[in-house]
Amino acid sequence: MLKIDLSGLKAVVSGGSRGIGRAIAVTFADCGADVAILYAHNKDAAEETVKLIQEKKRKASAFKCNVASEDDVVHTVEDIAKEYGRIDILVNNAGITRDGLIMRMSHDDWESVLNTNLTGAFFLTKHAVKYMIKNRFGRIINISSIVGLTGNLGQANYVSSKAGLIGLTKVTAIEYASRNITANVVAPGFIETDMTKKLSQKVKEGFLKKVLKKAPGEPQDIANVAAFLASPLASYITGATIIVDGGLSLG
Ligand code: NAP
Repeated sequence: MLKIDLSGLKAVVSGGSRGIGRAIAVTFADCGADVAILYAHNKDAAEETVKLIQEKKRKASAFKCNVASEDDVVHTVEDIAKEYGRIDILVNNAGITRDGLIMRMSHDDWESVLNTNLTGAFFLTKHAVKYMIKNRFGRIINISSIVGLTGNLGQANYVSSKAGLIGLTKVTAIEYASRNITANVVAPGFIETDMTKKLSQKVKEGFLKKVLKKAPGEPQDIANVAAFLASPLASYITGATIIVDGGLSLG
């Protein structure tokens, strides 16, 4: 029987306090990995994720780290490497939205989304990859979005950040393939989390009408694919974008 086995691996999941990041962190632990999660503000939620991982009998800790700050990222990655001894898996999952039509979008809303979603992934990759190079093993998984491929009304900043992540992933795959490091993208469709809770009923219905599976996705649907990509089963996959959208992009 095929099994997703991450035993002995040390993972870092940004935005692991809630939603998709929490599901990824707990699923990795379920598959045998120790997991460090990063969060921005929500300490209680981060501690809850740590508890859920520890219930799987794996090591876990939460680090307050604004991924948009290179200083924060440098110190956090060093602290994690010290505490865990190595970094094998990095999931760039932290993300925010600040929606608005281009004509009304402030420079601040543009920058904060790009800084968190794209620059944050660049900083974490830049500073974590050296530990992967040292061990000649690494798995980098970037959580983009289906809208990074299709575009979406009112999300110029978010869509640009998610399309940018696909480019960043391809370059990471090219630069580090020789060191046995893979880099891949998961592109979720409409997943029920705090991020989608704040959408208006009309926008939600608009999305759901297009989903071929006729239901929103769950964080676990994304976590299953992230665990597969982190595992030895996916060792020949690099630079790929795996869409997990229940057929939304075809609807
Ligand atoms: P969510 O429930 O809003 O959670 C966002 C997570 O990101 C939280 O853990 C948050 O930490 C963290 N975060 C935000 N800004 C951060 C920063 N500057 N530094 C560090 N951590 C930060 O979102 P989600 O729905 O799970 O989304 C997770 C990822 O999937 C995002 O990249 C999102 O764009 C992508 N995605 C989601 C969907 C969907 O339908 N939900 C679809 C496609 C793609 P705090 O708890 O401390 O705030």
